[in-house]
Amino acid sequence: MSFDYDLFVIGGGSGGVRAARVAAGETGAKVALAEEDRYGGTCVIRGCVPKKLMVFASEYSGMVEDAQAYGWDIQPGAFDWTVFKGKLHAELDRLEGVYRNILKTNGVESFDQRARLVDPHTVELADGTRKTAKHILIATGGHPVVPEFPGSDLAITSNEIFHLDKLPETMLIVGGGYIACEFAGIMNGMGVRTTQFYRGAQILRGFDDEARGLICEEMCQNGVDVHLGTNVLEMARDGDKIRVKATNGTERLFDVVMYATGRAPNADDMGLEAVGVERGRKGEIVVDEYSQTGVPSIYAIGDVTDRVNLTPVAIREGMAFVETVFKGNPTPVDHELIPTAIFTQPEMGTVGLSEEEAAEQEPIEVYATSFKPMQQSFAGRSQRVLMKLIVSKATRKVLGCHIVAPGAGEMIQLAGIAVKMGATKEDFDRTVAVHPVMAEELVTMRHPVRSA
Ligand code: NDP
Repeated sequence: MSFDYDLFVIGGGSGGVRAARVAAGETGAKVALAEEDRYGGTCVIRGCVPKKLMVFASEYSGMVEDAQAYGWDIQPGAFDWTVFKGKLHAELDRLEGVYRNILKTNGVESFDQRARLVDPHTVELADGTRKTAKHILIATGGHPVVPEFPGSDLAITSNEIFHLDKLPETMLIVGGGYIACEFAGIMNGMGVRTTQFYRGAQILRGFDDEARGLICEEMCQNGVDVHLGTNVLEMARDGDKIRVKATNGTERLFDVVMYATGRAPNADDMGLEAVGVERGRKGEIVVDEYSQTGVPSIYAIGDVTDRVNLTPVAIREGMAFVETVFKGNPTPVDHELIPTAIFTQPEMGTVGLSEEEAAEQEPIEVYATSFKPMQQSFAGRSQRVLMKLIVSKATRKVLGCHIVAPGAGEMIQLAGIAVKMGATKEDFDRTVAVHPVMAEELVTMRHPVRSA
């Protein structure tokens, strides 16, 4: 049977674009890709990239104060959202162009339309055109979800935050995950009076308790008004503000309310059920370790599969798919020991098990130190950082590394290599310290602070 394409990719985000261009560019496969929105997907257009640029923008307020403390004769001025927003969107346009171009130069045909499945080898584009392909790869990502309650339609999500006409004076952020905590720091740094509600006992559930405790403390210290054990009951429009009734008995007005209460896979109305592609409890596409669905010609990667929802993981899954299907080298995706950063202020870098997870698994030693870093301490800040290693008593392997500090994301990328290689505490110890840097503490902690 002959097909129009060897591969048809649905979704032009990080995972889909990588798989399409590598399949076409490196194996000579005939590849097409359909994208209904902007090329680059969540990461480039409405996630990691604009978020990180906003983190950078928001950190300058503190830097001006620190520079004064170091003797610089400079005065803090106002932050101009319009100037920043203009530059931000110009940069996103540029990056989208790069993504489009990369497909073109690798010979991938692209369709700026939504696509859905008709049968295991056929997709239908929004204009009704049908295309056949030997393999179909679904990389449609996910979207933010807001729970339903009275007034929930007044909330914005992380999709809209990059498009605000002006910076609000007051803002409520609901949720305690990555997105809520990162934006609480960003908005606070930009001068917005920021309140955060989280329904649980401590933000960033699932991460190391000591690390998330320190982040929460520092966020509060920086001026974010964090309310734990608090949720929204209802919201209503009140003039140009939003009146928010909360479970803690308060009723307050905010200019903007942002919900960051999780994301759901983009897998509805795609014809999956009719073709027999299985979906899980959260609506995600169920795949095996090779990203293959139960329908042999159909694969799925990235957030739509709800495995580990991170850009570099989607890219890995895309590369492994090409290796498996187009290079004849079956490659399962390795989801173990993924280092990751959370761009809260302070930033966190983490790899491996939290102290709590590790202690449940086996006897451990905990090495940790918390101190005032030189640069900020000199500027008169009371901010503390945390360096922490979780070590297996039996094998001496470092099971987890958790860093809360400026630049923690950069540090954990490197520590992640050692942990992934199975480094022991003694391997860390025999590495000479780099002095004077914060990360030297990772190789100079002599005694465990506790065993568990
Ligand atoms: P998360 O799933 O991480 O967090 C959702 C938060 O919302 C949790 O605190 C959860 O509380 C709370 N929540 C869920 N439902 C409700 C509800 N009905 N009412 C009130 N609160 C609720 O989602 P995010 O949106 O923060 O992030 C989505 C994904 O994006 C992450 O899983 C991550 O993989 C990715 N991401 C990664 C980043 C990075 O690598 N730096 C940055 C941003 C996103 P509870 O804990 O009680 O369940």
